[in-house]
Amino acid sequence: MTGSRVPEEMLLAYATGALNEPLSLVVASHMALNPQSRAEVEGYETVGGALLEQLEPKALADGALERTLSLIDLIPDEDRTAVGQICAPVKPQPVDGLALPSVLRDYIGPDIEALAWKPVLRGVEEADLTMGSEGARTRLMRIAPGAGAPRHTHGGLEVTLVLDGAYRDVSGRYGRGDVQVADDALEHAPVAEADGLCLCLVVSDAPIRLTGFFGRLFNPFIRH
Ligand code: ZN
Repeated sequence: MTGSRVPEEMLLAYATGALNEPLSLVVASHMALNPQSRAEVEGYETVGGALLEQLEPKALADGALERTLSLIDLIPDEDRTAVGQICAPVKPQPVDGLALPSVLRDYIGPDIEALAWKPVLRGVEEADLTMGSEGARTRLMRIAPGAGAPRHTHGGLEVTLVLDGAYRDVSGRYGRGDVQVADDALEHAPVAEADGLCLCLVVSDAPIRLTGFFGRLFNPFIRH
């Protein structure tokens, strides 16, 4: 179902390095779970690389390549191993039992329970991730089986990647690896499926606006 993949323009923007950090994290995590999108990005990168080669045929002029190679030659074999060991990132093994993309693990660490989870509604919790991008909010959202968000629309863009479990809304079903891109044209009330927790990565650039009964009560208090 194409509607559950990252839109083509967003994949292309990712391949060219034009996406901000939060959306890059969504796309990279999505690619780890969706081979079709991964192949598409690799295709863009190959084309981009070929174009660069045409544009910069003399990129390694002035003996730059030879100088680099000679530096490598200067490092004795035993030290080379040591350098490799120092540079290799030491990644703690996950302890929460979740099979998450490693690019996302780098942000959240080995134990998802160690994040600052806050209850937002009955059965819905969220934990903010710190990102170096102004204006966008990045968070993990965890929805209990059968629970859901109140009916709302969006003041801007809301991009949701399902990491575990699944949810449904008026537009369909979203399972592990699926992405939903929502904006002010969509009004929905996502509900997690009954057979398990639904864990999502959500990036938004504006607050949601509640549209049902809860909207009249709570809209002034929604923070972005
Ligand atoms: Zn929404």
